[in-house]
Amino acid sequence: MTDNALETTAPLTLLGLGAMGTALAQAWLAAGHDLTVWNRTRSRTEPLVAAGAKPAATAAEAVAANRLVVLCLLDDTSIDETLAGVDLAGKDLVNLTTSTPAQARARAEWAAARGARFLDGGIMAVPPMIGVPESGAYVFYSGAGELFAAHARTLAVPAGTKFVGEDPGFAALHDVALLSAMTGMFAGVAHAFALIREEDIAPKEFAPLLAEWLGAMTFSVHKAADQLQSGEYAKEVVSNLAMQVAGNATLLRTADEQGVSPELLTPYMELMERRLAAGHGDEDTTGVVDLLRR
Ligand code: NDP
Repeated sequence: MTDNALETTAPLTLLGLGAMGTALAQAWLAAGHDLTVWNRTRSRTEPLVAAGAKPAATAAEAVAANRLVVLCLLDDTSIDETLAGVDLAGKDLVNLTTSTPAQARARAEWAAARGARFLDGGIMAVPPMIGVPESGAYVFYSGAGELFAAHARTLAVPAGTKFVGEDPGFAALHDVALLSAMTGMFAGVAHAFALIREEDIAPKEFAPLLAEWLGAMTFSVHKAADQLQSGEYAKEVVSNLAMQVAGNATLLRTADEQGVSPELLTPYMELMERRLAAGHGDEDTTGVVDLLRR
């Protein structure tokens, strides 16, 4: 078996041709890879076969076709259903199915028990970004470092790659941490639009102001990281917690005046108040991280 790092268009197998799997398949085919595909609903293989993919009748046949086997299924349970009884000995499994860190670690042990090397991935993109280098799409990978190195060139075809460590749970953890931060940001955006919704302010005119403001505030991510690593939460504070908690009253009162529910804001504000009540008014909001830990 040759080392795939030396091959520009290594052969591989892809299991799962949903929206994301299809986008991945198209990217590998466009780059000239010899791609074997399998999907539970067989009709989804047809456009890819027309584009040059090799169809496999069963998941076992698809796995047998190549050493590198990529999974892009709905969830962890669908992996069990797809690979039950399939011989994985000597295979290099790359799981791009979204998982939790614990699921990824358990899956790594499961793969090792079947004689396979394992790499977990967390895709930071939506399907239209796949195969488009300028889209900024990338995939977090973690697990067997030598496996990542062996297939780095192939894995970099659909999207950029970021290897985040040998712990197989780390790709999922990075993925979910970013998605969780995004969820909080989306909550803030929803609240902001709700505030202006009933007024003579066009959302499309407001949007660039909002996007620019969120971008300008990203410096706080780096400051929080610096404070967390140094343990000095009162270091280089720009807007102290006492002032911010006082300012929250204005945010809540404005929500009330505009007829907007404060429910997306109040859980975070309550944590800020708890930290202030514990005597940390000279810090900024980094201490909330400690309050969240159970
Ligand atoms: P889809 O719902 O479009 O496709 C799901 C795929 O899983 C299909 O191939 C489906 O087969 C298969 N599947 C579901 N259940 C089973 C099962 N029990 N046994 C075998 N196959 C099964 O999802 P996506 O392609 O969008 O997502 C795939 C993975 O990629 C997910 O883990 C998702 O979280 C992740 N992802 C998706 C993103 C997106 O924006 N779409 C972004 C980042 C990650 P069938 O065709 O037969 O139903």
